[in-house]
Amino acid sequence: MRSPMLTRSLLILGMPVLVLALGHATPPPDPRRAEVILTPGGAPRYAIAIHGGAGVISKAKIPDGGKAHLDSLRAALELGRSTLAAGGTSLDAVEKVVRSLEDDPLFNAGKGAVYDHDGMHELDAAIMDGRRLACGAVAAVKTVKNPISLARLVMERSPHVLLVGEGADRFAAEMGVARVGQDYFHTAHRYDEWQQELRKKRAGAPAGKSHGTVGAVALDRFGNLAAATSTGGTTDKLAGRVGDSPIVGAGTYADNRTCAVSGTGSGEEFIRHAVAHDIAALIEYRGATVQQAAESVVRGKLRPGDGGVIVVGRDGALALVFNSEGMYRGAADSAGRFEVKIWE
Ligand code: ASP
Repeated sequence: MRSPMLTRSLLILGMPVLVLALGHATPPPDPRRAEVILTPGGAPRYAIAIHGGAGVISKAKIPDGGKAHLDSLRAALELGRSTLAAGGTSLDAVEKVVRSLEDDPLFNAGKGAVYDHDGMHELDAAIMDGRRLACGAVAAVKTVKNPISLARLVMERSPHVLLVGEGADRFAAEMGVARVGQDYFHTAHRYDEWQQELRKKRAGAPAGKSHGTVGAVALDRFGNLAAATSTGGTTDKLAGRVGDSPIVGAGTYADNRTCAVSGTGSGEEFIRHAVAHDIAALIEYRGATVQQAAESVVRGKLRPGDGGVIVVGRDGALALVFNSEGMYRGAADSAGRFEVKIWE
């Protein structure tokens, strides 16, 4: 019989052999490894969807029948499409698109953000890289011209996922991103909207659904997915209110194993139902298509009128689903699809 001492020595002596053997074992396949999807012509496939918010978009209230919004969406979509077509990454494409929509005063993100109850603008944004579930977000920032780029810096240059308020603004200063005064975000139509909301509330009428958001999801030619969302939140929100957009899994999500999602609508409902992650989970656990998953959550879990989502799957399939009157949106891919829409 071996003494316990001898057994221990043999075990210790055997360790290097075990370590060497494990060292040479084939690593398990990475479930998030990108798979290049080829078009029927043999080129790598890419796809992108964008949105500029969902809600009550009354045809009567948009003076030009939506032409200005559609023109802006078309320009943003082309920026994303051409980035992907030239071999750019999905992460760069979604950041560029969202930055351009943040700079556009027509949409509720960056310039043109809504007013909160204190007459201020507080901005939220998130970005996610489907290759490794890396994500970065900022909430309630007041001085950052392009919150989506700050969110990317949180992801790439800090050990954190979400920075809020004053700390996020301080991080922006450290990172040297463009800062602006609150006046920069002002637009007359958002101010009027806020005044109207205040009058409504004073008269005891139910709160309106005045919000909006911008977002983009993309699959690049390397098979990687990314999502980005940015918003000014909801008109007359309380100071410090944070919506779904910067909450990973609620308004933004990307995982190479399943899909990339960006949402828009009643943020509190999107948070309650973890909408973006729920869509990814339906694909992962149930094998749903992106269309089935998006419809199941938007129509089955959200309340009518709550809003919508844009989704791109790992195969480049796109779903743009909403349960509100309209959703500013666009879709493009390597097969030549290129369309922007508001209603139907
Ligand atoms: N989801 C955004 C928020 O609640 C607003 C919107 O998308 O309309 O902050």
